[in-house]
Parts: sequence; structure tokens; C-alpha cells
Amino acid sequence: MKRAGALLSNAAIGAAVALGVLLMATSAPGVHRSALLLGSVVMAGAALFAHRVHGVDRRLCGLIAGACAAFAVRAILIDGTPTSSPVALVFGVVGTALLVVALAGLMVQRYSHVPAGALGDAAPIAAAAWLLAWTTLVRPLLDAGEVAPAAAVAGGVFVPLVTVLLYMALVLVSSHAQRPAALVLLTAAVVADLVGVLWRLLAAAHVASSQLLLGADALFVASFLLGAAAFLHPSIATLERPHDAGRTQGASTRLVLLTGCVAIPVLAVALTVPAGTTDRVVRVVSTVALIIAVVLRTISATRDLRRSHESLLHGAQTDPLTLLPNRELLITRVNEALSETWRSATMPTVCLIDVDRFKNINDSLGHASGDEVLRVVARRLRSVAPEWATVARLSADEFVVLDPRTASAAEALALADTLLASFREPLGLRGGDVFITASIGVTSATAATTGSSTDLLNHANTAMYRAKDAGRGRIVVYDGSIKEREKRRLQLEAALYRALDRRELYLEYQPILDLDTRDVSGFEALMRWTMSDGAVVGPAEFIPIAEETGTIIPIGAWALLEALSELRKWIELGHCSPDTTVSVNVSPRQLADANFPAVVAEALARSGMSGDRLWLEITESVMISEPTLALETLVSLRDLGVRIALDDFGKGYSSLSVIQQFPLHRLKIDRQFVQGMADNDEDRQLVRTIILMGDSLGLDLVAEGVETLQQLRVLTELGCGKAQGYLISRPAPPAAIAATVSGLHRSSVLATLLDD
Ligand code: C2E
Ligand code: MG
Ligand code: MG
Repeated sequence: MKRAGALLSNAAIGAAVALGVLLMATSAPGVHRSALLLGSVVMAGAALFAHRVHGVDRRLCGLIAGACAAFAVRAILIDGTPTSSPVALVFGVVGTALLVVALAGLMVQRYSHVPAGALGDAAPIAAAAWLLAWTTLVRPLLDAGEVAPAAAVAGGVFVPLVTVLLYMALVLVSSHAQRPAALVLLTAAVVADLVGVLWRLLAAAHVASSQLLLGADALFVASFLLGAAAFLHPSIATLERPHDAGRTQGASTRLVLLTGCVAIPVLAVALTVPAGTTDRVVRVVSTVALIIAVVLRTISATRDLRRSHESLLHGAQTDPLTLLPNRELLITRVNEALSETWRSATMPTVCLIDVDRFKNINDSLGHASGDEVLRVVARRLRSVAPEWATVARLSADEFVVLDPRTASAAEALALADTLLASFREPLGLRGGDVFITASIGVTSATAATTGSSTDLLNHANTAMYRAKDAGRGRIVVYDGSIKEREKRRLQLEAALYRALDRRELYLEYQPILDLDTRDVSGFEALMRWTMSDGAVVGPAEFIPIAEETGTIIPIGAWALLEALSELRKWIELGHCSPDTTVSVNVSPRQLADANFPAVVAEALARSGMSGDRLWLEITESVMISEPTLALETLVSLRDLGVRIALDDFGKGYSSLSVIQQFPLHRLKIDRQFVQGMADNDEDRQLVRTIILMGDSLGLDLVAEGVETLQQLRVLTELGCGKAQGYLISRPAPPAAIAATVSGLHRSSVLATLLDD
């Protein structure tokens, strides 16, 4: 059927040309009337065809068919004279008006959100066309006195109507990148109609030759048939498709159009002399109408422009996921708040909120749920923050609440408390409830201390990281001491880079006592740092920095070789038995390094020790964050004969699956529980459970941090295999190892144990 439509469309074009030529050649009124009638009926049929076959909107086709019916009545009523029947003219006007409505409907469909703009231009165009038609055609027609005034005016009304039709057709044409044939045909039909109208008016006014009038009929018939061709063509269906024209699109075209609308009729009015009162009144009224139309259009265009500017600005300053202000707008607001501090007694507060372990949420629940979490958090923060506060999203899982009105440190803290409390309730996601925590860094600006917005956000950020370091899910307020610590950290960071080269790092060794043989079974190597100026930095402080900056990779490799070489020396010197081992701590960063097994192999080779002399102490964090990688590395290490100890056991997640899944050989019971055992039943139970579990899994057990005899006794009772702690020996430098071991054999600790 669609193919048939294309064929019929071509036939209609052919008929338009043929009938046009025929009508030019013959002046028989009957032929003209019949051709006009035929043309309008064919166009009505084509409109119905478009609805049925091409699925064009029913209302649109109905309007076209209605217009055609009006044209058909006009064709029946005309008598071939220039004066024509006024009733016929009325039907012509009605038909054309229906076409205007139909095209307007088409435009509304195509530009779903800018009908007002595109259609708004129609009023000034119509007013201008009317003024032009009046001065150049209608008035001369009236002056000639051969046409009834009503007929002349009605004829003039066609001009604005058809001009608007043409404008609409051109707007539609401009919105299609590839001009569909139907649209080109439709435009051609409107152009033919417009030329026909002008021709008829000109002929009636100046020449009044009925032969020429007939020429106008030829154009009308051609217009009908071209219209029919458009509706028959399959591409008519594409005209209704919505088109997203930007709001400001065509602003310059519109300017040219409006200027033309004013300039051309004004010129026409200026260049022609008013003839009599009626002419003057019509000119004045029409000019006023034109001015009003142009002014209204200018106002509405300006408003459109402003709105589109606002929406662009809003888009550029809004985070698309949460619809909160983004970093850019936040910085503007912080600057505004800062500029007010000198005037009012306020101290604007910035709370930087970072969702804890957001990466885990993304990894375990998927990115869609991650996004949902962020949206819910955004809504929650917005609902608990004061109405005047700015709640913005800084980056992935970082939000900022800026309250420009806080007046004291207590108020700032109260705000942070409220924000933190909002995380206590679970987040209701589509997939179920999720509990999350957040770390909050707080800082307030005062007139005396205020720096830039960047400073303020940096301080909040530093405080937030402190909150993370302190165990997450808490608030840290930025103060001078944080700044000091930050400074120290940066200094340590720089010094640590050079510490290895400057030989500032060394190892101390803490014996691990076998409670069955009462002999030293091994040593744990613990890193020490004494700076060249004599300052001592503890491992709890420098190891995390080394870990974060990556320096742990070279210093960790050095520690391995150093510890193994040292052990070899002791064995060779007879300080300890040949089956003594050394334990070296390995940080997550080292374990995540694909090169690590090679580093261990090299240390073994260079020290000439076998793999079973070495224990590596790891914590469970890396097995949880990067399980696949950790497993791969641990398997390679096992293949070297190296054994793995799980350090600080009981402190973290300590899930059974971790212990079963990975090739582990030893659990080191965290000193927190060992030390709690004496007066805490729960800790005692926990240690008992760990020992039972370790035994049943065939794991070696070492209790850390044994400081009292009582702790040692309980551990022996519970069947713990090995112990380590100040009671047995503090970590000692290599030079003191021989004395430490022999002292230990003589010491009262062992005697006490032997006594038992
Ligand atoms: P860790 O591996 O759990 O080491 C045991 C820590 O407990 C050591 O602290 C040790 O001195 C301390 N300790 C031993 N017995 C007792 C006791 O009876 N009472 C008390 N209160 N403490 C005791 P240290 O040397 O300060 O090391 C702290 C942490 O730093 C280590 O914990 C380990 O995680 C890390 N570390 C130390 N050296 C290295 C290293 O070479 N590489 C890596 N990656 N981490 C290291
Ligand atoms: Mg350790
Ligand atoms: Mg430990």
C-alpha cells in the first residue's frame, strides 16, 4: 500500500501539471469549476488515505478533509468573475483557516515543547502581510470600484492566512535535516496557493482580465493536487515525528523575520499615500495591531531566552544523579558565605560527608544500587539539613553541607551530629534495606581565620580523613592540632623516602616462645625508625604512611632480606637452633603487588635460607578487599614453602570463610583478647574458641602481647601452642639476641612454667 501511495503521489504531481496547463489554455468557467471541485475532492481523499495507510493523525487528516470540503463548496459557488460570490469567498477563507489550524497542529506535534515560540511568530507575520496586502492590493481594488468591498476585503484576508501557511511550511522544512518529499510537496502546494491568491488580487485590482483570473484557478488546482501528492506520499508519516529543537534555536532567523515583518509593511505604508479616511483608519489600526504583535512576540522571545539560559545554568551547576548543587555551585555559595563573615557574627560551617566503604557497596550490590544509595543519602541529607543550608555533591560518595548561619562551635557540632544521625536508619533500597555509615569532617570559618573557599574545603577534607583513620562512622572537627599533624605527616612522608638510603631504618626481633618445648621457636621482625636527628618514629605511625605512599614496597623488600640474613647469622653462630624461624610483617599494599612472590623468592635466594624458615604475617583486610589477587599471591608464596600467619586475629572481620579459603598456617590471637582474658570472661571464651577452631583446622596458634604470668598460665591451660609478649621478651636489637635467648632459658618465666 505504501508503494501504491508513492505511485499515486507521482500521478497527482503529473495531474497537477497537466490540469494547470489545461486550465491556462481554456477559459470555460465550467471546466474551471469542475477542476477546482475535482482538486479539492482528490486532496480530501488523499488526506483520508494518509490516515488509513500512512497512519497520520486522525484529527490532522480530518481538518484537511474539512478544509477541502470548504474549498469544494467554494468551487461550486464561484461564477468566474472577479467579483465572485461573497459566500464563496467566505468558504475559501474558512478552508484556508482550517489549513492553518492543521499545520499549527502538525507543528505542535513536532515541537512538543516550543509550539508557543514557533506559532507566536504567526501573529506579527499575519499582521504584516495584511498591512502589505491592504496598501498594495485591497485598497487599489476598492479604488477601482469593480469589486464589492466585502469581496475585496475577504480576498485580502487570504494573504495573511496563506502567508502564515507558507511560514509554517518553511519552519517545518527547516526542522528536517533531509527534506521529506511530502514536506517539499506541501510547501510547493502552499506557494502555489499564495501565488494564486496574489495573482487573483492583482488581476482583480489592476488588470481585471478574466483570462488572468483563470490563471489563478490553474494555480489553485495545482495547489490542491500537490497537497494531495504530499498526503499520498509515504514520507508524510515522518512529518509528525517529534523533533527536539533547542529553545533558542533559530533566534537569529526570528530576528530577521520580525525585522522584515516591521520593515516591509512600514515601507509600503510610507511609500503609498493614504486615500481618504477609511484608508487612514485601516492603516492606523493595522499598524497598531502589527506593533502590538511584534512587542508581544519580542517579550515572549526574551522570556524564552531567559528561561533557556536559566535552565542551561541550572544544568551546569547541578549534579545529574542527585540533582543537588555540584562542586562549582558549592564553591560560589561558600564564597558568598565567606564574604558575609566580616559583616555578621556568623562562622559558616562546612561538613564534608564521605560514605564509608562505598566501593564495597558498588562492588557487592552493583552500580545501580550504588547510585540508588547516593540518591537516598542526598535526599536524607537535604531533609535533615536546615532549609537555608546548601547540600551539594562534591564527588562520587562525598557530600557537603554548608550552613552559612552557624554562630558557634557548638552549633557546628550539633549540625554534624544531626547529619551523622541521619545514617542510623537503614536506607530502604528497592532490593532491601542497607546499613551504611559515614565519616564527617567539620570546619568553620571565622572573620579572623577565614582563608579561601578552597582552604575551608581542604580543612573539612583533612578532618574527614581523620574521621576515617579513627575508625569511620564518626565526626572530626578540624582544629590547629590537625593542621600540625598534617604538617608532621607531610614531613614524615618526605623523610621516609630517604630513610632507607640513610640507614635510619632497622629491625628489632621479638622471640616467639613454644609453650610445649619451652624453647624459642622463632622471632618476629619489627621495623624501627630512628631519624638522623635522633627522633624515634613508631611503626604505628610510619607504616601507614609508607603503605599509603607506596614506600612500603622497597622498605618491605629490604626488611625481608635483612631478617632472613640476620636469622642465618644467628643459626650459624649457634645463638638459636637450625629450625628457628623468622616472621616478617607484610602490608596489604605489598600483598597486592603482583611482583611480591618474586621479591620473597629473591630474599630467600640471597640469604640462602629455605622457604620454611620464613613466616609472613598478614592481616585479613587484603583478603576481603581483593580476594582473587590475594589468593593468587598466597598460593605462589606457599609454593615457595613460605608459611602464612594471620596477624591480629579476632580484631577485624575474622570470618571463618577467610580462614578456610586461603592457604593459612597460623593464627596470631590479638593482644586485646589475650590481655582481656584475666578479668573478662567473654575474652577468655573468645580465646578458647579461637584455639579450638585453630586446632581443628590444624593451624599453629600464637598468642600476642602476653604481659603477665597469669595470662601465660591461662593460655597454657587452654592449649595455646605459642606465645609472644613483653613477659617473655621485649623486641630486641640484633646485637642483643644472643643474650636475650640465653637469658630466656635461665629466666624465671620458664622456671615458673617448668614448676607447673
Ligand atoms: P604486629 O605485627 O601486631 O606486632 C606486634 C606489636 O605488638 C609490636 O608493636 C610489638 O612491639 C607489640 N608488642 C609485643 N608484645 C607486646 C606486649 O606484651 N604488650 C604490648 N602492649 N605490645 C606488645 P610495634 O613494633 O609497635 O609494631 C606495630 C605494628 O606495626 C605491627 O603490629 C605491625 O603491624 C606493624 N609493623 C611493624 N614492623 C613492620 C614491618 O616490618 N612491616 C610491616 N608491613 N608492618 C610492620
Ligand atoms: Mg605481626
Ligand atoms: Mg599483631
